[in-house]
Amino acid sequence: MVDQQKRFRALMDITRRPPISFAGGQGDWLVDREGNRYLDFIQGWAVNALGHCPAALVSAISRQVATLINCSPAYFNESALALADRLIRHSCFDRVFFCNSGAEANEGAIKLARKWGALHRDGAYEIITFDHGFHGRTLATMSASGKPNWQELFEPKVPGFHKVTLNDLDTVRQACTPKTAAVMLEPIQGEAGVFPTTDIFMRELRTFTRRENLLLIVDEIQTGMGRTGRLFAYEHPDIEPDIMTLGKGMGGGVPLAALLCREEVACFEYGDQGGTFNGNSLMTAAGLAVIDEILKPGFLEQVNAQGLYLRQALETMAEKHGLGPVRGRGLLLAMDLNKPIGAEVTEKALERRLLLNSPRLDSLRFMPALNVSRDSIDRMIATLSAILAELS
Ligand SMILES: *Cc1c(COP(=O)(O)O)cnc(C)c1O
Repeated sequence: MVDQQKRFRALMDITRRPPISFAGGQGDWLVDREGNRYLDFIQGWAVNALGHCPAALVSAISRQVATLINCSPAYFNESALALADRLIRHSCFDRVFFCNSGAEANEGAIKLARKWGALHRDGAYEIITFDHGFHGRTLATMSASGKPNWQELFEPKVPGFHKVTLNDLDTVRQACTPKTAAVMLEPIQGEAGVFPTTDIFMRELRTFTRRENLLLIVDEIQTGMGRTGRLFAYEHPDIEPDIMTLGKGMGGGVPLAALLCREEVACFEYGDQGGTFNGNSLMTAAGLAVIDEILKPGFLEQVNAQGLYLRQALETMAEKHGLGPVRGRGLLLAMDLNKPIGAEVTEKALERRLLLNSPRLDSLRFMPALNVSRDSIDRMIATLSAILAELS
């Protein structure tokens, strides 16, 4: 144990981590170095879209790693082309730029919007973003985020972001100036605690941004790739944004993200954008395996069915314990605890070898694999019910 503590100290202490080290995983389960099994309802924050070590991903990566890992972004490669083709065919976008993290994709979106503003809107560069929004941890994406406790961090911030209120078009209208180039938001604010935009608001926002000649950027890093029961969350309100970012689930666990835009918006010139590892064969082959699984007939129907099953189970439990409401869509759900007991609940869950996330003190967030089993949902609910009974 002492030995183990010493090993942990070699890593920068950037977040509170339990003294456990994971060594393996399969489906809904993680295994620590002592061989204990944990039921995983975090899945790397909605990253392991198909669970741990899914066969399709293992075989795609194994095949690709022995064929071509990287030929550099200076050249086209087969898996990047195939993945870009899939994304374009199944979205309203025409162009894709691959990168390595969500924050990097959002940095690209911000740059693209500024470039577009410089070219088409008389130098406009400001972007309207939302209170409690989360867009990443680089300087610009932290500046774009609306996390209250980030306000004083790493000053001075990157200028040009105006925060407004989710689902309130009047605040967007008021923040709009001749310098505004774009509006950027998450269809469901994930890190904030799973707060969805309404379909009506998204439609109004699309109408407003079109009329004002502003770009609409959707950050689908958490909501994209089937998480909400559609391939992309912007499909629910049936709108067509101008720019979209993807990350998290798209690589099924490997670092892969993307910036997508419509043809009219694709205004980067040579030298404006790039990155050493971007679009390498290995990561895009992983992404291709993931999207091909998600696009299989019946897959998204199953996400919706399991999402509904999980939601109903949470609602029944919430009612029994005087909790709720349950928020979210598909398999991105949260339940209000109505008391600041989130940390206690996740700690007790860990003791029972259940991994749960509490994005804020008064709620729990559920992000299981998109192919989570009914049995795993039942087990999670049984364990959580026991914990809530113990705490009340
Ligand atoms: C996780 C997340 C990001 C940041 O992605 P990283 O890969 O951690 O940089 C950005 N936006 C949203 C909506 C996210 O959920």
